[in-house]
Formats: sequence, C-alpha cells, structure tokens
Amino acid sequence: MQFLSTRAETEPHNFSEAVKIGLAPDGGLFVPSELPDLTDEFHTWAGESYAKVCYRFFRRFATEIEDGELESLIANAYTEFDDAKLAPLIELDDRISVLELFHGPTLAFKDYALQLLGRLYERQVAITGDTINVLGATSGDTGAAAINGLIGRSGVNIFILYPDGRISSLQERQMTCTGESNVFPIAVEGSFDDAQRELKVVFGDREFSERIKLSAVNSINLARILAQCVYYIYAWLKIGESRREKTTFVVPTGNFGNVLAGWLAYRMGMKVAGFRVATNQNDILNRFFNTGEYSVGMATRSLAPSMDIQVASNFERFLYYALGGDGNRVRKVMEEFKSTGIFKVDDQSIIKSMSSSRMTDEEILDTIKAVYQKYGYVCDPHTACAFKELDEFEHCVILATAHPAKFPETVLEATGQETIQSSLEALKSREIVKYPLHGDANTIKAFIESKQITP
Ligand SMILES: *Cc1c(COP(=O)(O)O)cnc(C)c1O
Repeated sequence: MQFLSTRAETEPHNFSEAVKIGLAPDGGLFVPSELPDLTDEFHTWAGESYAKVCYRFFRRFATEIEDGELESLIANAYTEFDDAKLAPLIELDDRISVLELFHGPTLAFKDYALQLLGRLYERQVAITGDTINVLGATSGDTGAAAINGLIGRSGVNIFILYPDGRISSLQERQMTCTGESNVFPIAVEGSFDDAQRELKVVFGDREFSERIKLSAVNSINLARILAQCVYYIYAWLKIGESRREKTTFVVPTGNFGNVLAGWLAYRMGMKVAGFRVATNQNDILNRFFNTGEYSVGMATRSLAPSMDIQVASNFERFLYYALGGDGNRVRKVMEEFKSTGIFKVDDQSIIKSMSSSRMTDEEILDTIKAVYQKYGYVCDPHTACAFKELDEFEHCVILATAHPAKFPETVLEATGQETIQSSLEALKSREIVKYPLHGDANTIKAFIESKQITP
C-alpha cells in the first residue's frame, strides 16, 4: 500500500516513510492510495482482542513491515492501559452507550494512537540510525499523550508547543513533570491555532525539516488516524449485529481527526447509520455541516479546551474525499482558503452521513450534572458535548474522550463530586520544567537547533 498527499504534489510513500515525516512535503496530508473494502473481513474479527483487531487492520496498510514485527509492536503499544478491555463499551440505557477511551496512560483517547506512534518512531530510528525530532502543537491532550508515547523510546526528541495559560493545570503537569531530558514542552503566547500556524511554517522550511529529521506528531499524522479507526471497529463488533447499521457514533470534535477515523472505517465497510460531530462553542464544523460553508472565526476558551480549535486540520482529508480524490482541486481550495479564510462545498452529498451539534459552556455544566443525575455516570466536559439532540438516533455510541479526573474543577462545579485519579495526584508533587518562548517559527527553529547534540 502506498500513501499519497491530499495536494497531489508528493511522490507516493510507503507507510513507514509517510509516518516518519508526518506532513507531506507539498503541505498536504497523507492518505492511503486506496481504501480497501473490508466489509466481509470485519465480521471475521468479532471476538478478537483489541490488539489483534488493531494488527489485522494495520496489516492492510503497513505492508512493508513483517507480520511478526508488526504484531509485537502493536501488542507492546497497548500494555499500559488500565482496563483489560482497553476500550470498554458501557450501556447507559437501551439507546445510549459510551465507549470509554480514557484508559491509557494519559487518560485521553489520544493514547490509542500515540502509544503506537512512539513505537513506530523507535523502529524507524533503529533502521536509519538517525535521531528524529518530533514536533507538535497541542490544545491540551495531544502533548501529554505524545510525550508519554515517546518516553523511553531511544533516538527521539520531542518538542511540544502549547498555548500558555489555556490548558488545564493537570494537562500542563502531564507534559512538564516527566523529568525526562528528551522532552521539551514549550509554552507560547496566543491560541492553539496560532501555534499550529507557526508549526506549519517550521515544517514548510524543507531544508530545516529534512536536516533536523523533523516529524509531525499532530493528528495530521496518518498513523494516528489509522490507529483511531480501530476502536470504532472494535466497538462496532461488540454491538449486536442487528443494531450495527442503526448505530450513530457521536464524537466530541476539535481537529476532526477522531471523527474522520470513524468515517474512514465506514468507507471501508463498517456499516453504521452515521456520525455526529459534537462541537463546543468553537463551532466552525457545526456551521459547515449546517451551511456547507467553512469560514474561520476566532477560537475562544471553553470548558472543553481540547476542542478550542477553529481550523480543523484533518478536515483537509475529508475534503479530499468530498472532491473525489482530486488532489489538484484540494490544493486550489486550500490556497483559496489560505487567502480568504473561507471555502464552500457545492456537492453536499458526501456529508449526508454526518450531522453536527454545538454546546455552550453553560450547557456543558448542565449536561455533566444531568448525566450524573440520570445515570450516575460522571463524564468530562468534552464528552458532555456529545449528549445533545440524541433523540433522533435509534442507537448511539458516545465516544468518551477524556477521564473526568483531568478536569476536576468543572466536574466538581457541575456534580459536587471530587474526581481523584492516582496517576494525576502523583504529578502534583513533581517539579515543572517548561520553556516559555515567543511562538514564531524562527524562534522555534532556533530552539530546536540549540537542543541538537552534535556527535
Ligand atoms: C483531542 C481531543 C478532542 C478532539 O479530537 P479531534 O480528533 O481533534 O477532533 C476531544 N476531546 C478530547 C478530550 C481531546 O483530547
């Protein structure tokens, strides 16, 4: 299997190469050259363990990695989860289930992809002998999950930009209290979108990124999207066969990576009723799904900070499929978007499988409380966004994207319940190490350069 850029101006890459560089050199995102039809195969995976389903799925994409190596790499990636099922499906009532994706080491769904990605990087370093410098920006949870996935992986440095003061203090501690010398959490002024924009400029400097062996760890990395397809398939196989096609996955959404993964699995044969894109007050995607127009506003802070995003980078992959896989058109649309901040999709047939919703902070608090009162279930503020306008669904699976203990103040305010989680408590006594920097591309490049140890 080869991987192509959504902007059509990059040579095909194999899986390992595409994963190593993350962003395609033409500025586009990697997509598989074709989506395999797994309709029949999916059914044969029922009853398999999570790691086995993951292996069978990746077997179709990581075609240059040998069977035994791929299987053990995947098995090792999922050893640090605190629930034997990895992704338990909890029934709240006969219409609503919750897929808990917060049993990994940093208590958010991003662990499912980043534990695996860390191992893929390490494999690459072992093959080439070159140190990889991983660079990413985070709205909160990616940073912690990326750092955790790379701790102890040799030959990898990790640089994570985050908007100073705009992530929760526990999220900050998860990144800054590791005590590891290859970890550089960089606190920058401005919003996540500002950081992401500068990061694209850094990657756009081809000379720099090739020399430094820079890799993108954001959800633009293809391996992350593919790893996230797995829990949809795994959960879908757990739902009784008669209900599968009537099920809607409801996904708290920011950068559009998570819901895109589900939608790709759907395109490969996981038959469901559809997907719901649940946003917070930063609702660019909700506006798009209602009007067909994608136009950037200002990101504002909300109680669900990991979704405080206006430019959803993974949307480009969706656009690629919406435009019939025509990379030249995607490139033009993205150029137009860059100069005008707006684009419109004429053919809306592709978005039929998706609907959207939006939730304000006030509703988030009310929802956490109502869900707790009705079901005795405590959800985090991101997951809360999914509990909106569910009546129209015959059966739905809500993706619980973070553990409530990551957002103790909000949960306490809404429910009166203290949420305590031992691994988070342990962080509170550790020293914080962070690097406050001006977040422009040149400063970031100089900083990364200064941390290279010349042999
Ligand atoms: C990252 C994150 C999201 C948003 O996911 P996307 O893939 O960016 O849409 C939602 N909830 C939590 C808790 C997150 O960490």
